[in-house]
Amino acid sequence: MSDQNKYYLFSKETETMLQLSEPLKERLNEHGFIPTSTPFEANFILSVGGDNTFLQAVRKTGFRNDCIYIGVNTDDLGFYTDFTLDQLEPLMMAMKEEQLKVRRYPVLKVKIDQKDPFYCLNECTIRSSVIKTFVMDVIIDDQYFETFRGDGMIVSTPTGSTAYNKSVGGAVIDPKLPSMQISEISSLNNSEYRTLGTSFILGSDRSLTLKIVQTGNEHPVIGIDNEALAFPQVKQVHLQLANRYIKVLKLDNNSFWDRVQRKFL
Ligand code: NAP
Ligand code: MN
Repeated sequence: MSDQNKYYLFSKETETMLQLSEPLKERLNEHGFIPTSTPFEANFILSVGGDNTFLQAVRKTGFRNDCIYIGVNTDDLGFYTDFTLDQLEPLMMAMKEEQLKVRRYPVLKVKIDQKDPFYCLNECTIRSSVIKTFVMDVIIDDQYFETFRGDGMIVSTPTGSTAYNKSVGGAVIDPKLPSMQISEISSLNNSEYRTLGTSFILGSDRSLTLKIVQTGNEHPVIGIDNEALAFPQVKQVHLQLANRYIKVLKLDNNSFWDRVQRKFL
């Protein structure tokens, strides 16, 4: 494994986190893993913290598809964190397997007007930054579908389906189904404005375009996972599944549905 033993550790830069990570670093060292100074040379990127830290770790390291991400939680297991700091042995064993066992998670690609694309692991949220309702035309592939009026919309990946999407009544989607789910946030429905009113799920080869109707509302807040983007004027947002996955090291007997059950039932 000589070429495959470089790791980069990502965590919040607080005194507590640095202290908590010490035993992990020692174990990695004992097992022959070598730290790198930047994430780009590492074969393993370890996120130490909750799902929130994992989302940041993936974003700050550029959604690499040629390395393995590892979520190590400081307390309980989370959605993206298969391992915990209390139990380092299963982690060391998983990292040293001849054939690493990984999950592949679909990633969402978001293009805002002509800007370079952004990527999301949970979801992209588009919502009004003012108190008035917000109007957008919803286009599937190249075909007009509906005009939305309300607070906004959430476009989530399968792994993001258990986060914000679930809070607005969206379905939980198996990450084995590469797809994106569109969920409304408080749509206005009356004889003049009509939307589907339920979440809908698009297959991996479809695209979604949200055209913001320019009526003084063209300053939406666009959320990509746990970061907000603020652009002065937005005309349209184009979303589709990226043609890349991220790979995440998995613990045996901890499937997506095990995690859903543990967290919600
Ligand atoms: P946060 O507001 O601190 O926490 C949101 C909660 O969601 C945390 O408990 C977080 O877990 C959990 N979470 C994150 N990703 C998840 C996933 N894929 N499945 C299930 N739970 C998940 O913000 P954050 O920790 O930075 O997380 C950002 C996410 O918060 C956004 O991507 C969005 O999905 C979600 N959010 C939800 C609402 C809502 O439900 N009304 C509103 C805004 C944003 P940890 O404690 O392990 O970090
Ligand atoms: Mn959090």
